[in-house]
Amino acid sequence: MNRVYNFSAGPSMLPLPVLEKAQKEMLNYGGTGMSVMEMSHRSKAYDDIIKEAERLLRKLMSVPDNYKVLFLQGGGSTQFAMVPLNLFGKSKKADYVKTGQWAKKAAAEAARYGEVNIVASSEDKVFSYIPDLNKADFTPDADYFYICQNNTIYGTRYTKLPDTGNVPLVADLSSCIMSETVDVSKYGLILAGAQKNVGPAGVTIVIIREDLIGNAMDITPTMLNYKTHADNGSLYNTPPCYAIYIAKLVFEWLEEMGGVAEMQKINEEKAGMLYDCLDNSKMFKGTVVPKDRSLMNVPFVSLKGDKDLEARFVKEAEAAGLVNLKGHRTVGGMRASIYNAMPVEGVKALIDFIEKFETDNK
Ligand SMILES: *Cc1c(COP(=O)(O)O)cnc(C)c1O
Repeated sequence: MNRVYNFSAGPSMLPLPVLEKAQKEMLNYGGTGMSVMEMSHRSKAYDDIIKEAERLLRKLMSVPDNYKVLFLQGGGSTQFAMVPLNLFGKSKKADYVKTGQWAKKAAAEAARYGEVNIVASSEDKVFSYIPDLNKADFTPDADYFYICQNNTIYGTRYTKLPDTGNVPLVADLSSCIMSETVDVSKYGLILAGAQKNVGPAGVTIVIIREDLIGNAMDITPTMLNYKTHADNGSLYNTPPCYAIYIAKLVFEWLEEMGGVAEMQKINEEKAGMLYDCLDNSKMFKGTVVPKDRSLMNVPFVSLKGDKDLEARFVKEAEAAGLVNLKGHRTVGGMRASIYNAMPVEGVKALIDFIEKFETDNK
């Protein structure tokens, strides 16, 4: 079996034990004589799966009791509309910090339903940093304040949350959920597509404070109303059954690894090694200011901006079993996504490859 180290930004690597367990349970789940894919979402067997997925998520993230956990469809991008549709209950104003394409798309979608104030932006330097926030620029009566906590494309992350006072903080954690500990009580709403750190594409996690449910705008479609899903335990209609099942296996794996705090240590070690390598390189450099570097997505470029060298690097890395290292077109160069499922050995293999490539191309 030739498994590669897959540095894809998403969908991305899943832990091998999870894939093996899914394989073992594929044809006959828990003595039911059928696959989870073939099972009624109203069956006892499936009910146990979705309840266990929620229990594990709550435990792993220490989700307080006054928050609902929802398993939805539509990806992170559907949340860009669901957030304003559900939270524009009073002033219909919201603050957004523009730290990349995902934050931009979210702000553009919200602007269709209310007033969006861009509090700060890092677009002037290709989103290579998290901008300083000045409280005087915040909208005091905003219905919510929105950030993208880890910017998948640009490789930045917030190391400190903005202090939004009584205004609920909404955060997109698609590419960093469960990679480091977070204090859920600091947020009004957390959203995350699963396909980066949690499971396969198809399920989107929303963690929402209960008092933010039930104030949706009149035009909100039933399926886009958080209340619909909160009132029905994410079983109003057929949920993405199989994706939720795989997420449950990932949560079990994460728990066996020691939980999110342990995972954070491993992630800090992996990212630390890779940034050290890049900082010491005479051929490559990271694109992000050191203080805002992501633990999950590491973009880097040739020091001389040599496009041919970068293309050759990506091609030769692939031949060496290190795949999907090509950078996003807006940044160029390379990007190594090193989510929870990327083992330390994978990052070491990449570092060895970078060092060898440098020596061979002196
Ligand atoms: C990938 C990603 C999205 C978009 O997710 P989809 O599920 O493709 O809609 C949104 N936000 C962030 C931070 C992402 O990394």
